[in-house]
Amino acid sequence: MYFGILHMRNQMKMGIVYHEDFNKYDLGLDHPLIGDKPRKVLEFFEEKNIMKDFEIFTPKKATQKDLERVHKKEYIEKVKELSKTGGMLANDTPAPKGIYDIARLATGGSILCAEKLMEGFKCMCNPLGGFHHASIGTSSGFCFFNDIAITIEYLREKYHLKKFMIVDTDVHHGNGTQDIYIDDPSVLNISFHQDGHTLYPGTGKLESIGKDEAKGFTVNLPLPPSTGTGSYLIAFNQIVPPLVKQFKPEIILFQSGVDTHHSDPLADLDLTYQAYFYISNKMRELSENSCNKLLVLFGGGYNSNASIICYYNVMCGLLDNHNYIKEEDSMSHFRVETVVENISRLKKLLADYWDFE
Ligand SMILES: [Zn+2]
Repeated sequence: MYFGILHMRNQMKMGIVYHEDFNKYDLGLDHPLIGDKPRKVLEFFEEKNIMKDFEIFTPKKATQKDLERVHKKEYIEKVKELSKTGGMLANDTPAPKGIYDIARLATGGSILCAEKLMEGFKCMCNPLGGFHHASIGTSSGFCFFNDIAITIEYLREKYHLKKFMIVDTDVHHGNGTQDIYIDDPSVLNISFHQDGHTLYPGTGKLESIGKDEAKGFTVNLPLPPSTGTGSYLIAFNQIVPPLVKQFKPEIILFQSGVDTHHSDPLADLDLTYQAYFYISNKMRELSENSCNKLLVLFGGGYNSNASIICYYNVMCGLLDNHNYIKEEDSMSHFRVETVVENISRLKKLLADYWDFE
């Protein structure tokens, strides 16, 4: 597909990475992950006339060395071997032929985004990024390599950055990322997700706040099914801005999964289209008022048409373009009491480490 001439909008300082081979991240016809989602997302951006607002860059595959900064050699070998014949990485994660190269290309996309941010871009997006279930030597949840951690370790080694912030709003808890950084105070890892009692992978309890010297640097807010947009935004606005302000990150990695939408077949948080505009618009503002480096990884989203609209709204929020798509919302504050209770429990658990107004 051809997306028209490259628009030189340097003043926008915003970009996206894309490669036709992104669409080969396809785990099979009966699998909820939609293989050609990146292409469909960009086609929709074109249709809505926002392609002119950011630059497109073509990523390269992450190298073995990039992967080894996070993953065990034996694990990388296992993915490489499975990729030769096709097979299963985990019960929910088929490993189709060639996946080693495609997963490295997805990871390379996140690394290229980071490079562009270091060159002066203020916001970069990877439509095939955010594989937060991949841990050091094991993985599931449709993930092979943890591009979030691999990008952090790349930045640490090449640019000597010291303070990384992850904001993960995918409906699933980012268990892989948490495993990697549970004892690392240089990474403040915030995850909002559907309660692990009701959804894969089951982790991400309020009480998991980090280990040893990294206590307070893992922040988990589990949310009940049917949380709704209104309650979700109360939580987001009470937790995320004070942490950005106090931690003062050098880069923010935002896993903007849209499987929180009410039509998503895998989960039940029941957010509406407008939620994605509000959240990403706020993330844009928080980044601009701190490090001015926002790396956006599109993450999960499994209802093809709705997820594409959600990603468009994410983009509108990042661009501060108010032509986002809205829908009826009568369930916005359905679970507000439970959500407010969880917020206040979280604030108590973190009271020794952070101030909340
Ligand atoms: Zn997810």
